[in-house]
Amino acid sequence: MIAANNPSLKSWVEVPQNSDFPIQNLPFGVFKTSSLTSRVGVRIGDHVLDLKTLHVLGYLDNQPFELADFETDNLNRMMKKGKLATRDLRNRISQLLDANVDELQKNSHHAEQVLIPNRSVIMQMPVQIGDYTDFYSSKEHATNVGIMFRDPANALLPNWLWIPVGYHGRASSVILSGQNIYRPKGQIKPNPEENPIYAPSRMVDFELETAFITYDGKPLGDSISTAEAEDHIFGMCLFNDWSARDIQSWEYVPLGPFLAKNFASSISPWIVTLDALEPFKVEGPEQNPHVLSYLEFEGNKSYDINLEVYIQPEDKEESLICESNFKYMYWNMAQQLAHHTVNGCNIRCGDLMGSGTISGPTPNSYGSMLELGWKGTKPLTLNDGSERKFILDHDTVIMRGFSTKDNVRIGFGEVKAKILPAK
Ligand code: MN
Repeated sequence: MIAANNPSLKSWVEVPQNSDFPIQNLPFGVFKTSSLTSRVGVRIGDHVLDLKTLHVLGYLDNQPFELADFETDNLNRMMKKGKLATRDLRNRISQLLDANVDELQKNSHHAEQVLIPNRSVIMQMPVQIGDYTDFYSSKEHATNVGIMFRDPANALLPNWLWIPVGYHGRASSVILSGQNIYRPKGQIKPNPEENPIYAPSRMVDFELETAFITYDGKPLGDSISTAEAEDHIFGMCLFNDWSARDIQSWEYVPLGPFLAKNFASSISPWIVTLDALEPFKVEGPEQNPHVLSYLEFEGNKSYDINLEVYIQPEDKEESLICESNFKYMYWNMAQQLAHHTVNGCNIRCGDLMGSGTISGPTPNSYGSMLELGWKGTKPLTLNDGSERKFILDHDTVIMRGFSTKDNVRIGFGEVKAKILPAK
């Protein structure tokens, strides 16, 4: 077992009941404050541990990291050191925060310097993302979309059960939670019998996804097997892959997603390590037909992560509109990475891989407005009595995720963004 995952650990740093960030989590992010420049931090309860200062004070001696790995505005330098190094680092941080270890705890003047109240930090984009790939790995989602857009009798295209289908997205418009988004404009075709028009999208939608962030992969020409995949995955975050359904349905033939998808994709600021998620591994859905050999895997590769979506109209309360779970995903991350590299495609440290919309089997577990409102035919009623077919101007969409087991709850915090009127 990874030492930092021990469910009996308690921290001397106070962690509120039901916090997403107990000592068993210790996710990594990048923050600054009004007086501190950007640096790497680790979240514990309602505090952020400043790894730059921790390094300066000598608490990370004997670790294969240098000051520059933490005195930076992204996690890439740290992730460059690889899986074993970052695992040791998380274990060391766990030790320093352990209630049974005096080392940092007893040095109150040091503890005050390295523990910063979360309310005074400004989170930054955690990763300098190189390439962004988005998969389409929820069978329920692919089936629902197939029924609505193509043919109910043949909802899943013939390749879907053989290939973890994906496409190359755009890294430049991946943004941090909290950054608001202008309603995209483009070509839409509100009347199928008439020519397209140029207008703001009328069908702005969210996609409930998670994403994983990679360590370095292998050289061009080599492949990563499902058995090796976890050695190349640093961690996961929440991911809202914003989509404009009316732009999408007109543009996607024959080359797939383009402007309907690249106007914004929001990520949560804390990257939960794959190590921290290890205790929450579960068996995935049965895969039938049997997958080709390079997609076979051993052991559990799915994770039990509860996922929720809320809509908050301007100045109103949040309404919970979706409860799903990452475990419903048909294709797991190891298979996605194996497939992505089977042709020799190289992945690099800091690549972002979206899961695809995570829909579950029941109507309240669908991971997009497209499905929840069934293409606008079944509007949702929010707590304030208003109806939604898609996302309106000034609506904020909030996604949260957490896992629980053995009285330990580890979470992702949230990813949120507001839709502003078109520019
Ligand atoms: Mn997507």
